Parts: sequence; C-alpha cells; structure tokens
Amino acid sequence: MTVREKVEVGRKHCRISQKAESDDFFGNWRGSRDSRDSRRRDTRPLRRDYPVSCGHTMNFDFDESHVLLRKSVREFARAEIAPYADGWDSDERFPTELVPKLASMGLLGIRIPEEYGGSGMDTQAYALSIEEIARVDGSIALTVASHNGLGTGHLLAFGTEAQKRRYLPMAASGQALAAWALTEPGSGSDAAALRTTARRDGTDWILNGSKTFITQGSVCGFCVVLARTNPDVPNRSGITAFIVDRGTLGFTASKHLRKLGCRASDTAEIVLDEVRVSDGQRLGDVDHGFADTMRILDRGRVSIAAMAIGLGYGALDKAVAYAKARSAFGKPIAAHQAIQWMLADSKTELDAAALLTYRAAWLSDRGGRYSEAASMAKLLASESATRACNAAVQVHGGYGYVREFDVERHLRDVKLCEIGEGTSEIQRMVVAKNLLAR
Ligand SMILES: Cc1cc2nc3c(=O)[nH]c(=O)nc-3n(C[C@H](O)[C@H](O)[C@H](O)COP(=O)(O)OP(=O)(O)OC[C@H]3O[C@@H](n4cnc5c(N)ncnc54)[C@H](O)[C@@H]3O)c2cc1C
Repeated sequence: MTVREKVEVGRKHCRISQKAESDDFFGNWRGSRDSRDSRRRDTRPLRRDYPVSCGHTMNFDFDESHVLLRKSVREFARAEIAPYADGWDSDERFPTELVPKLASMGLLGIRIPEEYGGSGMDTQAYALSIEEIARVDGSIALTVASHNGLGTGHLLAFGTEAQKRRYLPMAASGQALAAWALTEPGSGSDAAALRTTARRDGTDWILNGSKTFITQGSVCGFCVVLARTNPDVPNRSGITAFIVDRGTLGFTASKHLRKLGCRASDTAEIVLDEVRVSDGQRLGDVDHGFADTMRILDRGRVSIAAMAIGLGYGALDKAVAYAKARSAFGKPIAAHQAIQWMLADSKTELDAAALLTYRAAWLSDRGGRYSEAASMAKLLASESATRACNAAVQVHGGYGYVREFDVERHLRDVKLCEIGEGTSEIQRMVVAKNLLAR
C-alpha cells in the first residue's frame, strides 16, 4: 500500500486529535501518560496563525494527511531501512534491493501527480518524508531527495507532456531512478561556469563534457544534464537542460568516489563523449536552463534542510536514550547539567530549523519564488544538525566515536548538508543578496 493510500485509509479511521496523543508538532514522541483518560486529552486543534517576514500569514498546522504520512514513513523507515543502514554504510553499497520497496511506498513519486503514477502530494509531505527517512539513514534520504527534488522535479516543472508521459511513470515505479547533473570538476558553487557543451547537429544535439559528484549517477535510468548551448552570451544565459538515458552511446558513469558520509548513496562521475540526443530530449527552452535550475534548487534546498533536521533529531533521540542509560559519578549522565545543556541546545536549534524548513515547504506549495526562505532553512538546518550530531557523539563519549552506536554515522552523513545543493557560504550569499536588494 502506498503512503498515499495509507493516508486515505487513515483519514477514514482516525481523528486528527490523536496527533496530540502520540506525536508533537515536530513528530517527536510525546508519550501517552494520559492517553487512557480521554477527558484529560487536549483535543484543541493546534491552529496558530503567525505573520512571517515575507508578508504572508502562515498556518503552522500540518493537515491530517501530513500527520498520517509522517507516521507511515516512520514505520517504513524503522522496519525497512534502520536495521540495514549500518551494513550498507560499511560496505559503501547502494542498496538496489530497496528501490522497489521505496517505490511501492510511493516515495519515488511523492510529488508526481497521480495521472503519471505518482502519489501527487505536496512539498510539505515531501519534506516530512525525507526527514523521517533521515532519522535513520542519510544515504537513503539523499537518494530519495535527489530523485524527487532534482531529476524528476526538473521534468515535472519544465518537461513537455510527452516527456512527462515517458519518464515520470518509470520514475514513480522505481523502474528508472533519476539523476541530475549540474556540477563539474571545475565548477560547483559557480555553476554557471560549466563547460559541458551541447551543439546542434540537424535536429539532434551532441553533448560533450564531464560531470562529478552526481547522486545515483551510476544507478540511474536517466539523467538531466545541464550543458552550454551558447558560448557567445553571458554564462548564465546560454545553458540548456537535456534528458539523457543512461544507455545512450557515449554516456558513461563510474562510481569510485569514496566519501566521508552518505556512503550508501551512489555518487558518480559522468563522462559525455559525443552523446547524441534528439531535440525531443531537450528539457525547457534553449539557453534558459540556468534560470530553471535555480528554481529546481530552491525545492532541492528544502529537501536537504529536511534531511539535516531528520539526521539531527535521529542523533538527538539516541543521545537522550544513552544519557539516561549511562552512569558516571554515581548517577545517570543525564543528571549532569553539562549533558542537559547539550541536549537542550540541540533540541532548541533543531526545532527552530524545522520551523524554517516547514515554512519554506509551505511557501513552495503556494507558488511564487521562495529562494530566500529555502536558503535560510538549509543554512540553519544543516549547521544546527551538524552541531546536534556532534553533541550526540560527545554525549556518547568513547562509544560515540566507535561504530557500535549510529551517532558517528549521523555526524558523517550530516556534513553533506552543509555542502550539497549549495554550500552554507552560497546560502548566506542568497540571503544577503535578497536582504540588500530591499
Ligand atoms: C555526496 C554529494 C552529492 C552531490 N550530488 C550532486 C548531484 O546529484 N548533482 C550535482 O549537480 N551536484 C551534486 N553535488 C555537488 C555539490 O552540489 C557541490 O559539491 C557543491 O555545490 C559545492 O561545489 P564544489 O564542490 O565545486 O565546491 P567549490 O565551489 O569549489 O567551493 C569550495 C569552497 O569555496 C567556497 N566558495 C565558493 N564560492 C564562494 C564565494 N563566492 N564566496 C564565499 N565562498 C565561496 C564554498 O562555499 C566552499 O567552501 C554533490 C556533492 C556531494 C559531496
């Protein structure tokens, strides 16, 4: 049963007030001390409207479908991902066997409309799904984020009807994972300096160049490639996107990048050697790919923010449990104020980052630009979560430094969130640019 179907069934059988019994707004377990006494249960809807700086009024509630989705994805992640995450990480192996399970849960087509075989859910649902997966495994969260947010996201936003009919059902069913190739060996933050070229040849295009750090580059079914189509205009103006099937002659992907974290995600270098694609594989308008790319990255940044807070909350949960179980100087370490402060700081920062992330997702669903909100969310979430994972290792002492407890994996995985889809420095540049332009 897909997450969407579970949500539909759940809607029929439970009331939203049950949310107060099990999870708080951030999806943290609240216990159910008074759950047997329904008279004492606070069933007031958690509805609060806050003004936000972008001039909108925001309702911070998740609706019923979001609450049920979070629960379903959490159960799935605990059953199908958590028990194997350490092994996949140790083996540095992308778990292809998980792909059909992700697909049957609807997680490979979260935002793809139902008419193309997807779950047709919104960005808030997407962010919650990534967060829940990241609580147990950064690698799989990165895979799902990249597939939905970048590869299929670009197709969804700028593809023709024919392209959508051809690729989106394959993407949603897990038959073809989507990759997205912008970064090159010589250009990352300065993405518009890319050197891969696409030249016209009759009605076809010929692509040449190389890409690096491409998530699921060697296990994808198709890859969206950004290439320079016009060298005679300013960098940002002459770039176009193309869909390249992995089996296309001249397209080779190699996986030999050994990483600090997210080791079970596939990260590949791609070489394009005289790759011929028809004009029907062009994605979006000629020379307009860079502007489209910036819009894709906005949603991508929301998903990396969600991944960061998931990793942070996951590490915090483990730190809390360990602090209660481990004793030093005759009492549980949780009774020492220094430990309490680390836990309190982590929780406070993660909750603040989660609010920014949910706001950015909500703005995304309202349409219009939300670059500044997405950058702020990614910046705070990635840096807060890195601090929270570091604190979790510290709370575990020596046991945090060895692989027996998962917190060291969380710390290694979360560092990516400060780098991928724009480093923290680039996010600060986006925020400052918006601020100074007012
Ligand atoms: C595991 C992983 C997965 C990835 N997946 C993908 C993918 O699927 N598709 C894809 O296209 N890319 C992907 N990337 C690439 C990622 O987006 C880039 O690594 C990132 O944007 C940074 O680019 P860079 O590595 O070239 O660093 P650089 O741009 O070389 O930056 C180096 C340092 O200089 C700083 N810097 C650069 N410019 C400025 C400036 N103007 N002011 C201040 N500081 C600056 C940076 O912040 C950084 O600290 C992935 C990367 C990793 C590690």
